Amino acid sequence: MSSSNLASVAVGRPVRGEFTYVVPEGLSGRLSPGQRILVPFGRSMSLGFFLGPATPPPEAESVKLKPIMKVLEDSPSLPPDLISLLRFAAEHYRYPLGEVIKSALPPGLTKAEMEKEAKPDVQEFAVALVTEAPAALRRAPAQSAALAYLLAVGGRAPLEEVAHAIPGARETLRKLVERGLVRIDAEVIAPGVKEGLGQGRPDRLTPEQDAAVKELHTAVDTGGFQPFLLHGVTGSGKTEVYLRAVERALSHGKGSLVLVPEIALTPQLVGRFRSRFGADVAVLHSGLKDRERLFHWQALRKGTVRIAVGVRSAVFAPVENLGLVVVDEEHDPSFKQEDKLRYQARDLAVVRAKQAGAVVVLGSATPSLETLENTRRGRYRKLELKNRVDDRPMPTIGLVDLRQERPREPLVQEEAPILSPPLLDAMAETIAKGQQVILFLNRRGHSTFLICEVCGTSVKCSECDVCLTYHRSQNRVVCHYCGVAHPLPEHCRECTGPLLKMGVGTERVEAEVAERIPQARVARLDRDSATSAERLTEMLASFARREIDVLVGTQMVAKGHDFPGVTLVCVVMADTSLAIPDFRAAERTFHLLTQVAGRAGRGKDPGRVLVQTYNPEADPVKRMLVHDFDGFAQRELERRKVLAWPPYTRMAAVRLEGESAEQTASVARQLGDFLSRRMPPASWGVRMLGPALAPISRIRGRTRWQLLLKAPTHAALAPLLARLEAKLVDIPSSVRVTIDVDPAAML
Ligand code: ADP
Ligand code: ZN
Repeated sequence: MSSSNLASVAVGRPVRGEFTYVVPEGLSGRLSPGQRILVPFGRSMSLGFFLGPATPPPEAESVKLKPIMKVLEDSPSLPPDLISLLRFAAEHYRYPLGEVIKSALPPGLTKAEMEKEAKPDVQEFAVALVTEAPAALRRAPAQSAALAYLLAVGGRAPLEEVAHAIPGARETLRKLVERGLVRIDAEVIAPGVKEGLGQGRPDRLTPEQDAAVKELHTAVDTGGFQPFLLHGVTGSGKTEVYLRAVERALSHGKGSLVLVPEIALTPQLVGRFRSRFGADVAVLHSGLKDRERLFHWQALRKGTVRIAVGVRSAVFAPVENLGLVVVDEEHDPSFKQEDKLRYQARDLAVVRAKQAGAVVVLGSATPSLETLENTRRGRYRKLELKNRVDDRPMPTIGLVDLRQERPREPLVQEEAPILSPPLLDAMAETIAKGQQVILFLNRRGHSTFLICEVCGTSVKCSECDVCLTYHRSQNRVVCHYCGVAHPLPEHCRECTGPLLKMGVGTERVEAEVAERIPQARVARLDRDSATSAERLTEMLASFARREIDVLVGTQMVAKGHDFPGVTLVCVVMADTSLAIPDFRAAERTFHLLTQVAGRAGRGKDPGRVLVQTYNPEADPVKRMLVHDFDGFAQRELERRKVLAWPPYTRMAAVRLEGESAEQTASVARQLGDFLSRRMPPASWGVRMLGPALAPISRIRGRTRWQLLLKAPTHAALAPLLARLEAKLVDIPSSVRVTIDVDPAAML
């Protein structure tokens, strides 16, 4: 049997590895890599993906290889560079290749069906006919929200995208059409630079932007894999640099892939791409319907749309002739997927650029230490923007030592106040000037735990190893891990003593602002208040319209927002994320503080930041106060080196979860034994920590154990992980074991 009539196939089932099939006479010459095919598998038929010719297996004569039954499409759904990326992902993250491919493709292409009738490339666009919402809309919040979204993204967006941001927007937009505020255009998608090009394009770049753009242009012109870190302080105009690089790629007929953390939170960013490149941009977000996902996939695959802007999963978008990959806010934790294929999209973006021979730009004001270390080792070139656009100053940052600046007693003595006199004064002053304030605290709810005044017992979830959070608006205690909610207990279950409300959340901060500064218009932005995308968009739009003076919120307020009216940012408690048992706690704290501080002073008025803390000596707090990213990174890298944490080691976490505490513990020990007996030679430097109960030892009634593997390189870890993966078939299905390569969360 010659290799030319053997095919390597990924089967769309949760099975590991690639399979060899025979190419029947009638199909030879009709197969190209990336095609969806139909193959016999087990006792039934399965969707498969032709990957390329296979080498004959050693026992070729004895094995009865089965034939490919059918080819489901003429042109392959998967472009060649994606096939290599998906193969890499399956190998690196120890996940079945067929499942990896299925998770990358739009659902319409993951069924074993013939190719869908290609739809005409027509997309409906909503176009705003006004530049601001008329007063008459105030009483129609849904219409006002839809219009606000449209205006935020540059006045024009596909219907489907608005409908994602604002559920029910199709209906709402029709009403706006009746009012003469919006027009719907049907547009045939065709390749080429759109007439919209150039909208809002600044005539002059700052000298730093200019230098960065020149380097990127040269790289794009030369072609080939070239990785860059764009380290630019908040407000330095990183987006303009990306836009110019994308323009350049387009001028060479090349496509671009732009990854962003969260589209609903920062619609302005999408708006800037859209108003620059018009219909040449496909926006890929988590809310797309299957049909829409398929539409974008095909438009990109055909090359009729050449720029993809999207969240994490867009790293698999089939951009044709890829010339440029951008990862904005590359440090953002949302690039890590935490279930199924547990990939880090930023890392895959670099791999993809390498395989496609493209330029890749990782941008951030607070680069991850992994990226920074790659830069220090000379693997990535660094481009720096140290100043804000238009010579706007960086915000001045002041410290409020909570040990000295005790908040004054509140009017109603129920719980200890949290807003100190300097904070309250600064807020009142800012509001009096007609400017806006952001208050940041990364904890939602009213009180983060309840504790018995007599016996000290805290109120815990019955299903999870965590304390319940008190939500005053519902007058209930809620578990933030499993979602269970109970009425507020009146007293301690153990000793009937009174319960104290401890630990401050955003809900309590909001209440305290309302009580202390009654004239302020306050709103809260967190997952409890932004219950729908509609409310989220409306709240951000309302803050942008300056109908809100003080926005209290979790990390949702720290994202890349550009609100020129904000001149004061207050960090209610800098310490909250420091105590988390995770080696990245300091880094995460520094990132969050710097990002939220970066929201201040982005307009013509200078900004200031006040940071309340009980730990003014903590390194991330101290360094953030003086905008000292380099100093922080230097010290944190030294600490990581000493303790052998990433970026100086590569890690994999093996996580176990089961209903039975005994069985889970026993499987954990069994896997621990299995691994320790197969450890590579000591010189490879592989180490195992655990098995041990996870820091949160129970969630939803399931006991959790974990094992950590560390090694100087991923290559030293890979063989062990492969053996572990093969071993997983022997584990009883009542204990779920997952391998998390390059894990992000340690809990
Ligand atoms: P970053 O992402 O670095 O925080 P942005 O890209 O959001 O910063 O830019 C901050 C603001 O400066 C935006 O409102 C943007 O439109 C504006 N801007 C960027 N570059 C220029 C420029 N060269 N001239 C004038 N304004 C600019
Ligand atoms: Zn729970």
